[in-house]
Amino acid sequence: MSVASSKKVRVRFAPSPTGYLHVGGARSALYNYLFAKQNKGQFILRIEDTDEARSTDDSLRMVMEDLQWLGLQWDEGPNPKTLEDLGNFGPYRQSRRLDLYKKYADELIATGKAYYCFMTDAEMDVQREALLKEGKSPHVESPYAEWTVEKARAKMSEGATAVVRFKTRHLRKDYVFTDLVRGEVKFPSDMVSDFVLLRSGGMPVYNFCNVIDDHLMQISHVLRAEEHLPNTLRQMMLYEAFGWELPLFGHMSLILDEDRKKLSKRKGATSCHEFKMEGYLPAALNNFMALLGWSHPEEKEIIPMEELIEKFSVHRLHPSGAVFDAVKLKWMNSVYLRALSDEQIWQELKPFLDRAHLDLPADSAWQKKSVSVFRSAMETLAESVELYRPLCDKSFVIQPEGEDTLKWEQAKPVLQAWKDLVEQEPNEFMTEERFLQIQDLVKEKSGCKGKFLFMPMRVAVIGKPHGTELKILVPLLKKTSLIERAKICLQKIS
Ligand code: GLU
Repeated sequence: MSVASSKKVRVRFAPSPTGYLHVGGARSALYNYLFAKQNKGQFILRIEDTDEARSTDDSLRMVMEDLQWLGLQWDEGPNPKTLEDLGNFGPYRQSRRLDLYKKYADELIATGKAYYCFMTDAEMDVQREALLKEGKSPHVESPYAEWTVEKARAKMSEGATAVVRFKTRHLRKDYVFTDLVRGEVKFPSDMVSDFVLLRSGGMPVYNFCNVIDDHLMQISHVLRAEEHLPNTLRQMMLYEAFGWELPLFGHMSLILDEDRKKLSKRKGATSCHEFKMEGYLPAALNNFMALLGWSHPEEKEIIPMEELIEKFSVHRLHPSGAVFDAVKLKWMNSVYLRALSDEQIWQELKPFLDRAHLDLPADSAWQKKSVSVFRSAMETLAESVELYRPLCDKSFVIQPEGEDTLKWEQAKPVLQAWKDLVEQEPNEFMTEERFLQIQDLVKEKSGCKGKFLFMPMRVAVIGKPHGTELKILVPLLKKTSLIERAKICLQKIS
Protein backbone atom coordinates (compact mmCIF):
# COMPACT_ATOMS: atom_id res chain seq x y z
CA MET A 1 0.00 0.00 0.00
CA SER A 2 1.45 3.33 -0.94
CA VAL A 3 1.19 6.42 1.20
CA ALA A 4 2.55 8.52 -1.61
CA SER A 5 0.12 11.11 -2.81
CA SER A 6 0.73 13.17 -5.92
CA LYS A 7 0.00 16.19 -3.77
CA LYS A 8 2.35 17.92 -1.39
CA VAL A 9 1.83 16.60 2.12
CA ARG A 10 -0.82 18.68 3.85
CA VAL A 11 -2.48 17.07 6.84
CA ARG A 12 -4.89 18.40 9.37
CA PHE A 13 -6.11 17.95 12.88
CA ALA A 14 -9.77 18.92 12.90
CA PRO A 15 -11.15 18.99 16.45
CA SER A 16 -14.69 19.94 17.39
CA PRO A 17 -13.71 21.87 20.48
CA THR A 18 -15.95 21.20 23.43
CA GLY A 19 -13.40 21.50 26.23
CA TYR A 20 -9.93 20.22 26.97
CA LEU A 21 -8.22 18.02 24.42
CA HIS A 22 -8.88 14.32 24.97
CA VAL A 23 -5.98 11.89 24.66
CA GLY A 24 -7.60 10.35 21.56
CA GLY A 25 -7.63 13.73 19.83
CA ALA A 26 -4.14 14.49 21.03
CA ARG A 27 -2.88 11.25 19.51
CA SER A 28 -4.51 12.12 16.16
CA ALA A 29 -2.86 15.52 16.33
CA LEU A 30 0.49 13.94 17.15
CA TYR A 31 0.40 11.43 14.29
CA ASN A 32 -0.57 14.14 11.83
CA TYR A 33 2.17 16.38 13.17
CA LEU A 34 4.79 13.62 12.90
CA PHE A 35 3.71 12.79 9.38
CA ALA A 36 3.82 16.44 8.31
CA LYS A 37 7.25 17.04 9.84
CA GLN A 38 8.70 13.87 8.39
CA ASN A 39 7.53 14.80 4.92
CA LYS A 40 8.33 18.49 5.21
CA GLY A 41 4.66 19.16 4.72
CA GLN A 42 2.15 21.39 6.44
CA PHE A 43 0.24 20.60 9.63
CA ILE A 44 -3.09 22.40 9.68
CA LEU A 45 -5.38 23.05 12.60
CA ARG A 46 -8.97 23.28 11.42
CA ILE A 47 -11.72 23.96 13.88
CA GLU A 48 -14.94 22.06 13.29
CA ASP A 49 -17.18 24.31 15.31
CA THR A 50 -20.54 24.14 13.60
CA ASP A 51 -22.06 22.83 16.82
CA GLU A 52 -22.66 26.42 17.88
CA ALA A 53 -23.72 25.84 21.45
CA ARG A 54 -20.74 23.78 22.56
CA SER A 55 -17.95 25.19 20.43
CA THR A 56 -17.08 28.37 22.27
CA ASP A 57 -13.96 30.50 21.93
CA ASP A 58 -13.03 29.28 25.39
CA SER A 59 -13.07 25.63 24.34
CA LEU A 60 -11.07 26.55 21.26
CA ARG A 61 -8.46 28.23 23.41
CA MET A 62 -8.34 25.19 25.70
CA VAL A 63 -7.62 22.89 22.78
CA MET A 64 -4.96 25.20 21.38
CA GLU A 65 -3.33 25.56 24.78
CA ASP A 66 -3.12 21.79 25.13
CA LEU A 67 -1.64 21.40 21.64
CA GLN A 68 0.93 24.05 22.42
CA TRP A 69 1.77 22.42 25.73
CA LEU A 70 2.46 19.22 23.78
CA GLY A 71 4.59 21.23 21.38
CA LEU A 72 2.43 20.29 18.39
CA GLN A 73 2.60 23.67 16.73
CA TRP A 74 0.47 24.02 13.62
CA ASP A 75 1.68 25.70 10.44
CA GLU A 76 -1.75 26.98 9.47
CA GLY A 77 -4.84 27.62 11.54
CA PRO A 78 -6.03 30.09 14.16
CA ASN A 79 -3.43 32.22 15.85
CA PRO A 80 -3.38 30.93 19.43
CA LYS A 81 -3.43 34.44 20.86
CA THR A 82 -5.66 36.47 18.56
CA LEU A 83 -7.58 33.61 16.89
CA GLU A 84 -6.88 35.33 13.56
CA ASP A 85 -6.12 33.05 10.63
CA LEU A 86 -2.52 32.07 9.94
CA GLY A 87 -2.12 30.66 6.44
CA ASN A 88 -3.53 31.02 2.95
CA PHE A 89 -6.37 28.53 3.12
CA GLY A 90 -8.54 30.17 5.78
CA PRO A 91 -10.85 30.78 7.39
CA TYR A 92 -9.79 27.80 9.50
CA ARG A 93 -12.88 27.82 11.67
CA GLN A 94 -15.89 26.23 10.04
CA SER A 95 -18.22 28.71 11.71
CA ARG A 96 -16.54 31.35 9.51
CA ARG A 97 -17.08 29.35 6.31
CA LEU A 98 -20.85 29.07 6.26
CA ASP A 99 -21.22 30.98 2.97
CA LEU A 100 -18.91 28.54 1.30
CA TYR A 101 -20.92 25.51 2.43
CA LYS A 102 -24.10 27.18 1.22
CA LYS A 103 -22.52 27.84 -2.16
CA TYR A 104 -21.55 24.18 -2.56
CA ALA A 105 -24.96 22.98 -1.35
CA ASP A 106 -26.58 25.23 -3.98
CA GLU A 107 -24.33 23.71 -6.60
CA LEU A 108 -25.49 20.20 -5.70
CA ILE A 109 -29.11 21.32 -5.70
CA ALA A 110 -28.70 22.96 -9.09
CA THR A 111 -27.23 19.78 -10.59
CA GLY A 112 -30.00 17.61 -9.09
CA LYS A 113 -27.64 15.84 -6.66
CA ALA A 114 -29.27 17.29 -3.60
CA TYR A 115 -32.75 18.55 -2.83
CA TYR A 116 -34.82 20.47 -0.33
CA CYS A 117 -36.68 18.08 1.92
CA PHE A 118 -39.70 19.06 4.01
CA MET A 119 -40.22 15.79 5.86
CA THR A 120 -40.74 16.21 9.57
CA ASP A 121 -39.05 13.95 12.10
CA ALA A 122 -42.43 12.39 12.89
CA GLU A 123 -43.07 11.55 9.22
CA MET A 124 -39.65 9.99 8.96
CA ASP A 125 -40.24 7.89 12.07
CA VAL A 126 -43.51 6.54 10.67
CA GLN A 127 -41.80 5.53 7.42
CA ARG A 128 -38.84 4.00 9.22
CA GLU A 129 -41.04 1.88 11.46
CA ALA A 130 -43.10 0.67 8.51
CA LEU A 131 -39.92 -0.39 6.67
CA LEU A 132 -38.61 -2.21 9.72
CA LYS A 133 -41.92 -4.06 10.08
CA GLU A 134 -41.59 -5.24 6.49
CA GLY A 135 -38.10 -6.49 7.36
CA LYS A 136 -36.45 -3.92 5.09
CA SER A 137 -33.54 -1.66 5.91
CA PRO A 138 -34.88 1.57 7.42
CA HIS A 139 -33.90 3.87 4.57
CA VAL A 140 -36.40 6.66 4.43
CA GLU A 141 -37.29 7.80 0.94
CA SER A 142 -38.30 11.41 0.83
CA PRO A 143 -41.22 12.27 -1.45
CA TYR A 144 -39.47 15.59 -2.14
CA ALA A 145 -36.45 14.08 -3.87
CA GLU A 146 -37.86 14.65 -7.31
CA TRP A 147 -39.42 18.04 -6.72
CA THR A 148 -38.11 20.83 -8.88
CA VAL A 149 -36.11 23.54 -7.18
CA GLU A 150 -38.80 26.07 -8.16
CA LYS A 151 -41.54 24.06 -6.51
CA ALA A 152 -39.49 23.67 -3.33
CA ARG A 153 -38.60 27.37 -3.25
CA ALA A 154 -42.25 28.29 -3.64
CA LYS A 155 -43.11 26.12 -0.64
CA MET A 156 -40.35 27.76 1.36
CA SER A 157 -41.55 31.21 0.44
CA GLU A 158 -44.83 30.24 2.12
CA GLY A 159 -42.86 29.72 5.32
CA ALA A 160 -42.07 25.98 5.17
CA THR A 161 -38.62 25.00 6.46
CA ALA A 162 -36.45 22.47 4.67
CA VAL A 163 -33.23 20.61 5.14
CA VAL A 164 -30.94 19.98 2.18
CA ARG A 165 -30.51 16.28 1.55
CA PHE A 166 -28.01 14.46 -0.63
CA LYS A 167 -29.56 12.05 -3.12
CA THR A 168 -28.17 8.54 -2.81
CA ARG A 169 -30.80 6.34 -4.44
CA HIS A 170 -29.15 6.33 -7.87
CA LEU A 171 -25.70 5.53 -6.42
CA ARG A 172 -26.17 1.79 -6.17
CA LYS A 173 -22.69 0.27 -6.09
CA ASP A 174 -19.87 -0.57 -3.73
CA TYR A 175 -17.57 2.21 -2.62
CA VAL A 176 -14.05 0.88 -2.19
CA PHE A 177 -10.93 2.58 -0.98
CA THR A 178 -7.56 1.56 0.41
CA ASP A 179 -7.24 2.66 3.98
CA LEU A 180 -3.63 3.39 4.93
CA VAL A 181 -4.07 1.46 8.17
CA ARG A 182 -6.73 -1.11 7.35
CA GLY A 183 -6.13 -1.97 3.72
CA GLU A 184 -9.08 -2.34 1.38
CA VAL A 185 -12.39 -1.17 2.81
CA LYS A 186 -15.65 -1.73 0.98
CA PHE A 187 -18.95 -0.03 1.71
CA PRO A 188 -22.13 -0.98 -0.11
CA SER A 189 -23.84 2.28 -0.98
CA ASP A 190 -27.15 1.16 0.52
CA MET A 191 -25.62 1.50 3.95
CA VAL A 192 -26.90 5.05 3.83
CA SER A 193 -30.06 6.73 2.70
CA ASP A 194 -30.41 10.32 1.52
CA PHE A 195 -28.47 12.21 4.15
CA VAL A 196 -28.67 15.77 5.37
CA LEU A 197 -26.10 18.32 4.18
CA LEU A 198 -27.64 21.46 5.65
CA ARG A 199 -29.99 21.50 8.61
CA SER A 200 -33.17 23.56 8.46
CA GLY A 201 -31.44 26.55 10.06
CA GLY A 202 -28.82 26.38 7.29
CA MET A 203 -26.12 24.90 9.51
CA PRO A 204 -24.03 22.32 7.63
CA VAL A 205 -23.34 18.84 9.01
CA TYR A 206 -19.92 17.35 9.70
CA ASN A 207 -19.67 15.09 6.65
CA PHE A 208 -20.41 17.94 4.29
CA CYS A 209 -18.08 20.60 5.72
CA ASN A 210 -15.34 18.06 6.21
CA VAL A 211 -15.25 17.14 2.52
CA ILE A 212 -15.42 20.72 1.29
CA ASP A 213 -12.69 21.84 3.64
CA ASP A 214 -10.38 18.90 3.02
CA HIS A 215 -10.70 19.59 -0.70
CA LEU A 216 -10.30 23.37 -0.56
CA MET A 217 -7.46 23.14 1.94
CA GLN A 218 -5.74 20.65 -0.38
CA ILE A 219 -5.44 18.00 2.31
CA SER A 220 -3.38 15.10 0.99
CA HIS A 221 -3.85 12.55 3.80
CA VAL A 222 -6.68 12.25 6.30
CA LEU A 223 -5.39 10.48 9.41
CA ARG A 224 -8.17 10.27 11.93
CA ALA A 225 -9.88 8.09 14.50
CA GLU A 226 -11.48 4.79 13.60
CA GLU A 227 -14.89 6.04 14.69
CA HIS A 228 -14.98 8.11 11.50
CA LEU A 229 -14.49 5.11 9.22
CA PRO A 230 -18.25 4.74 8.46
CA ASN A 231 -18.43 8.46 7.64
CA THR A 232 -16.00 7.86 4.82
CA LEU A 233 -18.80 6.37 2.70
CA ARG A 234 -20.87 9.57 2.77
CA GLN A 235 -17.73 11.57 2.20
CA MET A 236 -16.72 9.47 -0.81
CA MET A 237 -20.17 10.02 -2.30
CA LEU A 238 -19.69 13.76 -1.92
CA TYR A 239 -16.20 13.75 -3.45
CA GLU A 240 -17.67 11.86 -6.37
CA ALA A 241 -20.60 14.26 -6.71
CA PHE A 242 -18.25 17.24 -6.92
CA GLY A 243 -15.80 15.40 -9.16
CA TRP A 244 -12.98 15.91 -6.68
CA GLU A 245 -10.02 13.63 -6.07
CA LEU A 246 -10.09 11.71 -2.80
CA PRO A 247 -7.40 12.32 -0.22
CA LEU A 248 -5.70 9.19 1.15
CA PHE A 249 -7.49 8.03 4.29
CA GLY A 250 -6.02 6.26 7.31
CA HIS A 251 -8.20 5.37 10.30
CA MET A 252 -6.39 4.86 13.56
CA SER A 253 -7.34 2.26 16.12
CA LEU A 254 -9.47 3.03 19.14
CA ILE A 255 -7.81 3.69 22.47
CA LEU A 256 -9.08 1.19 25.03
CA ASP A 257 -8.95 1.07 28.79
CA GLU A 258 -7.49 -1.87 30.70
CA ASP A 259 -10.79 -3.75 30.38
CA ARG A 260 -10.58 -3.29 26.60
CA LYS A 261 -13.52 -0.88 26.64
CA LYS A 262 -13.38 2.50 24.95
CA LEU A 263 -11.29 4.78 27.15
CA SER A 264 -13.58 6.91 29.27
CA LYS A 265 -13.28 9.55 31.94
CA ARG A 266 -14.62 7.25 34.63
CA LYS A 267 -11.36 5.30 34.73
CA GLY A 268 -9.06 8.25 35.46
CA ALA A 269 -7.45 11.08 33.55
CA THR A 270 -8.15 11.21 29.83
CA SER A 271 -7.54 14.82 28.87
CA CYS A 272 -4.18 16.46 28.25
CA HIS A 273 -5.04 19.09 30.80
CA GLU A 274 -5.51 16.46 33.48
CA PHE A 275 -2.18 14.86 32.62
CA LYS A 276 -0.55 18.26 32.78
CA MET A 277 -2.07 18.96 36.20
CA GLU A 278 -1.00 15.53 37.43
CA GLY A 279 2.54 16.40 36.55
CA TYR A 280 3.28 14.54 33.36
CA LEU A 281 5.87 16.00 31.04
CA PRO A 282 4.66 16.72 27.50
CA ALA A 283 7.64 14.83 26.06
CA ALA A 284 6.67 11.72 28.01
CA LEU A 285 3.02 12.01 27.03
CA ASN A 286 3.94 12.39 23.34
CA ASN A 287 6.18 9.34 23.51
CA PHE A 288 3.46 7.35 25.27
CA MET A 289 0.72 8.43 22.84
CA ALA A 290 2.92 7.67 19.85
CA LEU A 291 2.98 4.04 21.00
CA LEU A 292 -0.81 3.83 21.29
CA GLY A 293 -1.35 2.27 17.92
CA TRP A 294 2.11 2.57 16.40
CA SER A 295 5.39 0.81 17.16
CA HIS A 296 9.03 1.61 16.57
CA PRO A 297 10.69 -0.59 13.92
CA GLU A 298 13.13 -1.88 16.56
CA GLU A 299 10.39 -2.03 19.18
CA LYS A 300 12.05 0.77 21.16
CA GLU A 301 9.97 2.30 23.93
CA ILE A 302 11.74 5.52 24.82
CA ILE A 303 11.68 7.60 21.66
CA PRO A 304 12.32 11.34 21.77
CA MET A 305 10.44 13.65 19.42
CA GLU A 306 13.20 13.96 16.78
CA GLU A 307 13.34 10.20 16.47
CA LEU A 308 9.55 9.91 16.37
CA ILE A 309 9.56 12.30 13.42
CA GLU A 310 12.24 10.27 11.70
CA LYS A 311 10.83 6.80 12.40
CA PHE A 312 7.08 7.34 12.31
CA SER A 313 5.37 5.51 9.50
CA VAL A 314 1.78 4.97 8.59
CA HIS A 315 2.60 1.34 7.72
CA ARG A 316 3.35 0.62 11.34
CA LEU A 317 0.00 1.91 12.59
CA HIS A 318 -1.89 -1.06 14.06
CA PRO A 319 -5.51 -1.60 13.09
CA SER A 320 -6.45 -3.22 16.42
CA GLY A 321 -7.32 -1.28 19.56
CA ALA A 322 -4.52 0.13 21.69
CA VAL A 323 -4.70 -0.32 25.45
CA PHE A 324 -4.01 2.76 27.56
CA ASP A 325 -1.66 1.53 30.28
CA ALA A 326 -1.53 4.19 33.00
CA VAL A 327 1.29 2.38 34.81
CA LYS A 328 3.43 2.48 31.70
CA LEU A 329 2.73 6.20 31.24
CA LYS A 330 3.90 6.84 34.79
CA TRP A 331 7.04 4.82 34.25
CA MET A 332 7.72 6.66 31.01
CA ASN A 333 7.26 9.97 32.76
CA SER A 334 9.80 8.99 35.39
CA VAL A 335 12.29 8.14 32.66
CA TYR A 336 11.86 11.58 31.06
CA LEU A 337 11.91 13.28 34.44
CA ARG A 338 15.16 11.61 35.47
CA ALA A 339 16.83 12.68 32.26
CA LEU A 340 16.43 16.34 33.28
CA SER A 341 19.00 18.29 35.28
CA ASP A 342 18.21 19.33 38.86
CA GLU A 343 17.67 22.88 37.68
CA GLN A 344 15.30 21.83 34.91
CA ILE A 345 13.33 19.67 37.33
CA TRP A 346 13.04 22.59 39.74
CA GLN A 347 11.59 24.74 36.96
CA GLU A 348 9.03 22.05 36.22
CA LEU A 349 8.16 21.54 39.91
CA LYS A 350 7.83 25.18 40.77
CA PRO A 351 4.25 25.69 39.50
CA PHE A 352 3.11 22.61 41.45
CA LEU A 353 4.76 23.80 44.66
CA ASP A 354 3.35 27.29 44.15
CA ARG A 355 -0.16 26.01 43.56
CA ALA A 356 0.11 24.08 46.82
CA HIS A 357 1.21 27.37 48.50
CA LEU A 358 4.45 25.90 49.74
CA ASP A 359 6.79 28.63 50.85
CA LEU A 360 10.28 27.36 50.21
CA PRO A 361 13.75 28.93 50.15
CA ALA A 362 14.35 31.07 47.08
CA ASP A 363 18.07 30.40 46.65
CA SER A 364 19.00 28.26 43.73
CA ALA A 365 21.65 26.23 45.57
CA TRP A 366 18.99 25.05 48.01
CA GLN A 367 16.59 24.34 45.18
CA LYS A 368 19.10 22.22 43.32
CA LYS A 369 20.08 20.39 46.49
CA SER A 370 16.44 19.62 47.27
CA VAL A 371 15.89 18.22 43.80
CA SER A 372 18.98 16.05 44.04
CA VAL A 373 17.51 14.59 47.23
CA PHE A 374 13.97 14.03 45.92
CA ARG A 375 14.39 13.42 42.18
CA SER A 376 14.36 9.66 42.32
CA ALA A 377 11.42 9.60 44.74
CA MET A 378 8.90 10.98 42.24
CA GLU A 379 7.39 9.69 39.04
CA THR A 380 5.22 12.73 38.37
CA LEU A 381 5.73 16.39 39.16
CA ALA A 382 2.60 16.49 41.31
CA GLU A 383 4.14 13.89 43.62
CA SER A 384 6.74 16.47 44.59
CA VAL A 385 4.18 18.38 46.65
CA GLU A 386 4.02 15.81 49.44
CA LEU A 387 7.80 15.39 49.36
CA TYR A 388 8.34 19.12 49.82
CA ARG A 389 5.47 19.83 52.19
CA PRO A 390 7.46 18.91 55.35
CA LEU A 391 10.01 21.54 54.36
CA CYS A 392 7.52 24.39 54.44
CA ASP A 393 7.31 26.06 57.85
CA LYS A 394 3.70 27.09 57.40
CA SER A 395 2.75 23.44 56.92
CA PHE A 396 4.28 22.39 60.22
CA VAL A 397 1.58 21.06 62.55
CA ILE A 398 1.79 18.46 65.25
CA GLN A 399 -0.32 15.53 64.12
CA PRO A 400 -2.39 13.51 66.64
CA GLU A 401 0.19 10.66 66.61
CA GLY A 402 2.84 13.30 67.19
CA GLU A 403 0.95 14.57 70.23
CA ASP A 404 0.88 11.04 71.65
CA THR A 405 4.64 10.74 71.22
CA LEU A 406 5.19 14.05 72.94
CA LYS A 407 3.42 12.64 76.00
CA TRP A 408 6.27 10.17 76.55
CA GLU A 409 8.56 11.11 79.40
CA GLN A 410 11.58 10.81 77.07
CA ALA A 411 10.21 13.49 74.75
CA LYS A 412 11.20 16.49 76.85
CA PRO A 413 14.90 15.63 77.44
CA VAL A 414 15.29 14.60 73.78
CA LEU A 415 13.77 17.80 72.40
CA GLN A 416 15.59 20.00 74.87
CA ALA A 417 18.93 18.48 73.89
CA TRP A 418 18.06 18.66 70.19
CA LYS A 419 17.08 22.34 70.38
CA ASP A 420 20.17 23.29 72.37
CA LEU A 421 22.48 21.52 69.97
CA VAL A 422 20.86 23.02 66.88
CA GLU A 423 21.08 26.47 68.42
CA GLN A 424 24.83 26.05 68.75
CA GLU A 425 25.26 25.19 65.07
CA PRO A 426 27.31 27.83 63.25
CA ASN A 427 25.73 27.33 59.81
CA GLU A 428 22.30 27.98 58.37
CA PHE A 429 22.09 24.40 57.10
CA MET A 430 23.73 21.25 58.43
CA THR A 431 25.04 18.39 56.37
CA GLU A 432 23.80 14.84 56.67
CA GLU A 433 27.02 13.85 58.51
CA ARG A 434 26.64 16.71 60.95
CA PHE A 435 23.04 15.72 61.58
CA LEU A 436 24.09 12.15 62.40
CA GLN A 437 26.70 13.49 64.83
CA ILE A 438 24.11 15.69 66.51
CA GLN A 439 21.73 12.78 66.76
CA ASP A 440 24.41 10.86 68.66
CA LEU A 441 24.93 13.85 70.92
CA VAL A 442 21.20 14.05 71.63
CA LYS A 443 21.30 10.37 72.55
CA GLU A 444 24.22 10.97 74.93
CA LYS A 445 22.75 14.06 76.56
CA SER A 446 19.21 12.71 76.98
CA GLY A 447 20.12 9.14 77.76
CA CYS A 448 17.37 7.99 75.38
CA LYS A 449 17.78 5.61 72.49
CA GLY A 450 15.94 3.64 69.85
CA LYS A 451 12.39 4.72 69.16
CA PHE A 452 12.41 6.92 72.28
CA LEU A 453 15.07 8.98 70.63
CA PHE A 454 14.05 8.89 66.96
CA MET A 455 10.31 9.32 67.27
CA PRO A 456 10.30 12.49 69.41
CA MET A 457 12.99 13.95 67.16
CA ARG A 458 10.90 13.25 64.11
CA VAL A 459 7.90 14.94 65.69
CA ALA A 460 10.12 17.94 66.34
CA VAL A 461 10.99 18.10 62.64
CA ILE A 462 7.90 16.96 60.76
CA GLY A 463 5.13 16.93 63.39
CA LYS A 464 4.67 13.15 63.31
CA PRO A 465 6.69 10.15 64.45
CA HIS A 466 6.81 8.43 61.04
CA GLY A 467 7.73 9.71 57.59
CA THR A 468 10.71 10.60 55.46
CA GLU A 469 14.06 9.94 57.10
CA LEU A 470 15.40 12.85 59.09
CA LYS A 471 18.86 12.62 57.58
CA ILE A 472 17.22 13.49 54.28
CA LEU A 473 14.96 16.27 55.52
CA VAL A 474 17.09 17.97 58.17
CA PRO A 475 19.85 19.11 55.78
CA LEU A 476 17.12 20.86 53.76
CA LEU A 477 15.70 22.76 56.74
CA LYS A 478 17.11 26.06 57.94
CA LYS A 479 18.51 26.19 61.47
CA THR A 480 15.83 28.77 62.39
CA SER A 481 13.07 26.45 61.14
CA LEU A 482 14.41 23.53 63.15
CA ILE A 483 14.60 25.63 66.31
CA GLU A 484 11.14 27.06 65.79
CA ARG A 485 9.62 23.60 65.31
CA ALA A 486 11.40 22.22 68.40
CA LYS A 487 10.09 25.16 70.43
CA ILE A 488 6.51 24.54 69.31
CA CYS A 489 6.81 20.93 70.46
CA LEU A 490 8.41 21.86 73.78
CA GLN A 491 5.60 24.31 74.42
CA LYS A 492 3.12 21.55 73.75
CA ILE A 493 4.87 19.35 76.32
CA SER A 494 4.87 21.93 79.10
N1 GLU B 1 -14.32 17.08 13.92
C1 GLU B 1 -14.08 15.68 13.80
C2 GLU B 1 -13.72 15.15 15.18
O1 GLU B 1 -13.42 15.92 16.08
C3 GLU B 1 -12.99 15.48 12.80
C4 GLU B 1 -12.98 14.18 12.15
C5 GLU B 1 -12.01 14.14 10.97
O2 GLU B 1 -10.81 14.25 11.25
O3 GLU B 1 -12.45 14.03 9.85
O4 GLU B 1 -13.75 13.97 15.42
